[in-house]
This record gives sequence, C-alpha cells and structure tokens, in this order.
Amino acid sequence: MKANCWNGVNDLEVQDVPDPKILNPRDAIIRVTSTAICGSDLHLYDGYVPTMERGDILGHEFMGEVVEVGPGVKNLKAGDRVVVPFPIACGGCLQCERQMYSLCENTNPNAWLAEKMFGHATSGIFGYSHLTGGFAGGQAEYARVPFADVGPIKVPDGMPDEQVLFLSDIFPTGYMAAEVCEIKPGDVIAVWGCGPVGQFAIKSAYLLGAERVIAIDRFRYRLRIARERAGAETINYEQEDVYEALMEMTGGRGPDAVIDAVGMEAHAPGAIHAYDRLKQAMMSETDRPYALRQAIMACKSGGIVSVIGVYGGLVDKFPMGSFMNRSLTMKTGQAHVQRYLKPLLGRIQKGEIDPSFVITHKLPLDRAPEGFKMFRDKQDECLKVVLYP
Ligand SMILES: [Zn+2]
Ligand SMILES: [Zn+2]
Repeated sequence: MKANCWNGVNDLEVQDVPDPKILNPRDAIIRVTSTAICGSDLHLYDGYVPTMERGDILGHEFMGEVVEVGPGVKNLKAGDRVVVPFPIACGGCLQCERQMYSLCENTNPNAWLAEKMFGHATSGIFGYSHLTGGFAGGQAEYARVPFADVGPIKVPDGMPDEQVLFLSDIFPTGYMAAEVCEIKPGDVIAVWGCGPVGQFAIKSAYLLGAERVIAIDRFRYRLRIARERAGAETINYEQEDVYEALMEMTGGRGPDAVIDAVGMEAHAPGAIHAYDRLKQAMMSETDRPYALRQAIMACKSGGIVSVIGVYGGLVDKFPMGSFMNRSLTMKTGQAHVQRYLKPLLGRIQKGEIDPSFVITHKLPLDRAPEGFKMFRDKQDECLKVVLYP
C-alpha cells in the first residue's frame, strides 16, 4: 500500500510499504477513505518531537471502511464506515473507566520512554512518534486500529467524510478546550491561535454558551475565517498589543477564560521571539510558550487557562507569580476523544455545526508532502488539508 512516511526533518515521502495485518484479536483493518494533516503533525515534520524513526507512517486523523476485524471485535464488521479517534484506548483500565482515554494505561508499549520524559506515560497515539507507541498512522491506504471495539464510531449513512472526519481529533480537541473553561452565560473567552483547533475552540465556546469569543492570530486569512465562519471578534497581534486590546474589550477585567490553541511553536513579534528561539536552539527550553504567557497575563483573576496546544517538554519564563497570586486554574490534556464522539456527532446531525468549514485544500494522498509544506508555510491561505488515498 501507499503511505506518507517520515524520513527525517522536513523530509516526507509517499512510499510503498507492506499492508497492515491483524495482530491482536481486538484489531481492525480500515481502508482509509480520507485523512487530514494536523497542526501537531507539523511538530513531527519540523523535528520538535523526539523518537521519530525513518519510515514512520504519519497521520492520526483518519476514517474509512472496515475491511477486516479480529475475533475480539464484536461491534464492527466489514463494510462499516467508521471514524477513528487519535488516542488508542483499551476501555478497561482505571483511566479509561474515568473516560480519560488519552491517558489509557495499556496502549503505549513504550511507556518506559514516556515515563522518563513526562513522569508518566500517555496512551498510544496513531502516527505520533515512538514516545506514544510507534503506531503506524492513517495517512495511508490502510491502517491497523488496535482496540477497535472501543475507539471507532460508526458513521450514519448519508454523512460525507468531510462532515465527520474531524471527530477523529480537532473537533473534540477544540470542544474539550472550551468545555474545561466552564463557560457561564455572559462569559467572554479568548482563544490564542486560529488554526483548525482554534477555530473549533471558538465554535465550541459559542455552542457552550459564551457571549463573546475573541480570537488572536497574525495571519489575516485565519483571522478572517475566525470572524466569518466561526463568529469571533479578532485581534492581530502584529498590529495591536494583545493585552491592551483585551483589556479594552473586557472593561479592564480580562477574558473569563483563555485558551492556548498554539502550543510549543508559538511566534511572537520582536525580541521575545528571538529569545525563545535562541533558548530552544540551545536546548535550554524545548517549547516557545509565548502565547501561553500572554494568555495567563490577560486572563481575568480567578479565571481558567485552558491549554490544548501541544507542548513537548520544558518552558522558560512561566509567569508563576501571576498564575498563583490571581487564583488562576490551568486545565490541559490531549483530548479524550472517545468521550465526545457520540455527543458531537449528535450536534453535527442536528445542524448545530458543520465541521467542514475549516477545509481549504483537498489533495490526493500522493501529494501529502506538498500538503504539509503548504500548511506549514501558510501558502495559498491553507488552513486544513484533507488527503484522499
Ligand atoms: Zn490532530
Ligand atoms: Zn485504558
């Protein structure tokens, strides 16, 4: 089969690789009908995530048709159309019982590696380095899905891929980012980053009752999409002082909750960006937390800081004083996607949201490397690329 393989930093190639096979009774093999490139794939592409190996198949956002199931999978059969959540979860461990699926204790065979870095391991994740298990990803013609009796959700007839594909990650991720903000009527939510997850965080904040959502980015087209398709008010941080603008818009109190949908490769104007780039280059910090610092400083006292942008290691100049003295709460995590599949599918069916609003580019799988470059370099107003094997 064909698959999009990581061969080194900035080096991807669609290659012929062996077809996946059923290895365990609870596996299923899926013929992928569509798959997407995620902002967090760019961290692999750019070389910010360790433990990638030459030939690793990328992709954790995919859906398709079941072609084969192991004897332990009773709820799926060949021919079913399914969306596959990006965290791999066993369904039976303590964390899975608490619906903390991205923390599943049984699906990361390289837990020892993750424990060294994070203290404790996360679940396995498709196509996301050997730190999360080294599972082959879904930017391929076929994928093996472990614990297929727990993760995948069947798609009702008549719903196109483009409407449901993002249940695999970015819709639940954006939704969880907003949900943990404990939004109350009248609340103002600020979202750093107008990438695909940021767009879903904006939409979700409105679905959950926010009165106003203010979105922050520097790319005009992303801000335009946030305004026109997600309904946000916007701040371009290259043109305005974000803190000042937010204070002006919120009567001096700041947003009730803030969402960091940027993560470790934040960009900032001027000297502070150079400082963080330098620290990152010298390996004395792994992540550039500019958006996070700004979000903390702007958040209303007593408010919630929701961090959904991906971080990999250490940050520098974390404003702990502001965070502690002002009674802020931080909520984080890789999305517990399985928890959100049914309710969010329901919202799509009811017409409350059409997730296809983020798609700007559709390409055949063969052109995946080009899609990565276009997305990373923000060429052609690229916001979200869907690949078709
Ligand atoms: Zn993703
Ligand atoms: Zn589990």
